[in-house]
Amino acid sequence: MNTNVTGLHHITAIASDPRQNLDFYTKVLGLRFVKKSVNQDDPGTYHLYYGDYAASPGTILTFFPWAGLRRGRPGTGQAYATAFSVPEGSLPYWQERLTRLGVKQEQVEKRFNDEVLPFADPDGLRLELIATSETDARPAAPSKDVPAGFGIRGFHSSTLALTDPSATAQVLTKSMGYKLVSESGHRTRYTVGPGGPGTYVDLLTDPALPRGLNGAGTIHHVAFRVADEAAEVAARNILLKDGLQVSPVIDRAYFKSIYYREPAGVLFEIATDGPGFAIDEPLDQLATKLGLPPHLEPHRTAIEAALPKLD
Ligand code: ZN
Repeated sequence: MNTNVTGLHHITAIASDPRQNLDFYTKVLGLRFVKKSVNQDDPGTYHLYYGDYAASPGTILTFFPWAGLRRGRPGTGQAYATAFSVPEGSLPYWQERLTRLGVKQEQVEKRFNDEVLPFADPDGLRLELIATSETDARPAAPSKDVPAGFGIRGFHSSTLALTDPSATAQVLTKSMGYKLVSESGHRTRYTVGPGGPGTYVDLLTDPALPRGLNGAGTIHHVAFRVADEAAEVAARNILLKDGLQVSPVIDRAYFKSIYYREPAGVLFEIATDGPGFAIDEPLDQLATKLGLPPHLEPHRTAIEAALPKLD
């Protein structure tokens, strides 16, 4: 028995300035702004979501932006890097584009069979573009800034940095149904469900990495996907039986979620594929109005007045 996770659902990170964050992910990376909402645990701050046109699970990178927040430090005990899948051969385009737009980037490296371009967002969040030779039929996010032939197709992988990977690997493989696919150097890759880009979790045990510190430019949590609420409840029971401390099922309006910390301290979530982001505005108008869960709707006027302007 495992949780029937089918891959990555969304990844949530911490940012500083919301306007800078919006500009970077939409204009530089060419993602679609798919939901403008609030942090349900802190409704005075935004929760911004970027993804593909349909806001599909497996493409959604989200942020809690707190203007003026100090930077954290990516390192062990965290989801260390977030990789997007881009078409094979597209890295020269991205190197030129990122250089032209003043984005800090590192040398292209070879990882397993693919070329990887590491770079950072304005808060220092570690991002990667992986020009994979594997089939990835997901359509690129539509963008007037990035041609479709080079566009981001969703997540490729999430890399967790760990000092000791064994207990984390145990949770991935025993409880969550992940399977080891490749090992090289300090990196071990796992996949689940249908496999391929959008499913991978890499465990990185590089002794040169510092201990991670939370703050702007670090990942808050990694969410995995299950088909529906029945699968969510079943997943919760399996995780509890395997000795993890798991939250109750929480209704996040666009999906239902459970949360738990894997043994190395990284916060995991399992989220349902539905109902999705088109429940409170039409698909062709996503992120036009502030999305609020029903319990915050009575406070809309006050919440909108307190949030910084984004338009
Ligand atoms: Zn989440």
